Amino acid sequence: MRRSMVVGNWKMNGDKAQASTLIREAIVTQAELDAADVVLCPPFVLIPQVVDGCIDTEIDVGGQNLNLNKDGAHTGEISGSMLSDQGCRYVIVGHSERRSLYGDTDMVVGKKAALANSFGLRPIICVGETQAERESGSTAMIVQRQVQAIFDEAGIHIFPDAILAYEPIWAIGTGQTATPDQAQEVHGLIRKLIKQHSSRLAEHTLLLYGGSVKADNAQDLFVMGDIDGGLIGGASLNPDDFREICRATQG
Ligand code: PEP
Repeated sequence: MRRSMVVGNWKMNGDKAQASTLIREAIVTQAELDAADVVLCPPFVLIPQVVDGCIDTEIDVGGQNLNLNKDGAHTGEISGSMLSDQGCRYVIVGHSERRSLYGDTDMVVGKKAALANSFGLRPIICVGETQAERESGSTAMIVQRQVQAIFDEAGIHIFPDAILAYEPIWAIGTGQTATPDQAQEVHGLIRKLIKQHSSRLAEHTLLLYGGSVKADNAQDLFVMGDIDGGLIGGASLNPDDFREICRATQG
């Protein structure tokens, strides 16, 4: 039986005051949940505050990216060992904004997932197709290619610690959510791809859906058999919405 998970990706939003409100509210929310984990992924500079604020709670903290190198002359970058050292247990890898704006190719994403794993961080690896790819019927091919790169670069052994998030790019921040059936179809494909390597790993790997998840559509998505929770962007900055989305994991 897989535990549900809801991950809040704050992206490049928030200051110390907003973070303390979000932490306080997330703690209240998390305490209500029976079988679901909550992970907060703030911008790098807010990580120490969130880690400290969530001490002695069940909430875990993650980074939003890591550099491909372990250390050295990479001005402005953050390594996996630094995230780990700050108390993170997770890191988002290959978010579509990183892929489209900062050159994270499939190969880079796979390498980052491997590196995260080597630092004891659970990578939350994002995959998903563009609007044009969906319209041309290439969704399965694109997602398969992205998942294969993870197998090739990081190896199947990073599962079930590693988490896969299906985030159709056309649904991120647009208010246009995949229907439960559309999302389930891709989640089913991803689980099948893992199963080709190991039924046990496929059974235990968490698959999250991301893309305009809101309080009013979360439950319909989370009841689908292969959707184990959500990666939440915009709505994770609103404590009431985030609480309702977390509650939606409880059925
Ligand atoms: C995201 O950025 O990971 C995301 C899913 O954003 P939103 O929920 O705002 O669509």
